[in-house]
Amino acid sequence: MSARNILVINCGSSSIKFALVNEAQETFILSGLAERLGSPEAVLHWRLGEHKDSLALPGADHRQALSHLLPIVQQAAAGALHGIGHRVVHGGEHFSGASRLDASSLHSIRQIAPLAPLHNPANLQGIEAAMKLFPDLVQVAVFDTAFHQTLPEHAFRYAVPQALYAEHGVRRYGFHGTSHRYVSQKAAQMSGLAVEASSWLVAHLGNGSSTCAVENGLSRDTSMGLTPLEGLVMGTRSGDVDPNLHSHLARTLGWSLEQIDAMLNHDSGLLGLSGLSNDMRTLELAREQGHPGATLAIEVFCYRLAKSLAAMSCALQRLDGVVFTGGIGENSALIRRKTLDHLGLLGLKLDEQANARCIRGIAGAIHAPDHPRVLVVPTNEERQIALDTLALLD
Ligand code: ADP
Repeated sequence: MSARNILVINCGSSSIKFALVNEAQETFILSGLAERLGSPEAVLHWRLGEHKDSLALPGADHRQALSHLLPIVQQAAAGALHGIGHRVVHGGEHFSGASRLDASSLHSIRQIAPLAPLHNPANLQGIEAAMKLFPDLVQVAVFDTAFHQTLPEHAFRYAVPQALYAEHGVRRYGFHGTSHRYVSQKAAQMSGLAVEASSWLVAHLGNGSSTCAVENGLSRDTSMGLTPLEGLVMGTRSGDVDPNLHSHLARTLGWSLEQIDAMLNHDSGLLGLSGLSNDMRTLELAREQGHPGATLAIEVFCYRLAKSLAAMSCALQRLDGVVFTGGIGENSALIRRKTLDHLGLLGLKLDEQANARCIRGIAGAIHAPDHPRVLVVPTNEERQIALDTLALLD
């Protein structure tokens, strides 16, 4: 049988990211983004091999954008498309792995929507449009939360009245599961270890960031919780704050829930601390020029990340290595160094030259000889979603 092609789709409220993945190739045949959907500026951008192109689609919605994408995909796949994998943010407790999309799984995804009111309805829009356009193709949902369904109860429960869990699903779910799973498997391969007998601390650091303890191929704890706001300092998200901050701001400043939500999700994190940017590249440059806000944002980011990794180590019996991934984890030698500087008690030590070399997609070991492993492993969520889709085709 020749190698199969899977289209991977990730729908946001006004965007669709897509990639055409061939099971035998690490690089994508086709990839791109439709953005500003629903507005006069809606546009489709794609890259096919070395060729880049775009198409203005004024007023297009998800379905119209996908129907314009269809011939481009057919051409790129030379008519051989075998399935579609959809990224879905929240699978609640219902989904502990990928699921074929049919009436019953769609019903469950709809029921989980209150847990992810911004994300799941957008994911569903894409799924429904794709199912209408490609009625004969197998379509699969791959959930950000599913990998973390193996957390033990002592790691996923909040210390709040149990009825909130039993009746309303208030618990820690975790996100970025597709990435944590992909890079922990790669880390085991790179180290000559079986994933079922290996133990990792993973830091996925992008615009959203989270840590994860992975033991024997299973997630045992992770820093995000009921929502992707818990845990680390992120681009514009605060991560952990005192839960009483909400009532404090409401009482003292008269802020509404919407204002507090917007502040914690959109005005905080690296952006809030620095007063400058949510983008780590901008902050690193500004820090070099002595910008105090950028300097502080980087210090807080790294300290809080190190603290989270140390906390995650409680979930492991032993440590085979620490893994950095995501745009920041894969590219920033500075962030990796400053984070590990706080983790001397775990015995971690960098090889500075190796650390400087692992940027722009270069994977590798960056620890000093005779010290615990530290690896840079570029993530590839699209490929993992395609592999999960293929597994359900077989
Ligand atoms: P998303 O979570 O949206 O997928 P990415 O994983 O692409 O995000 O990560 C985006 C982050 O990676 C941004 O903060 C960006 O500044 C950072 N980043 C990308 N390249 C570099 C670099 N060379 N040095 C430092 N940070 C970088």
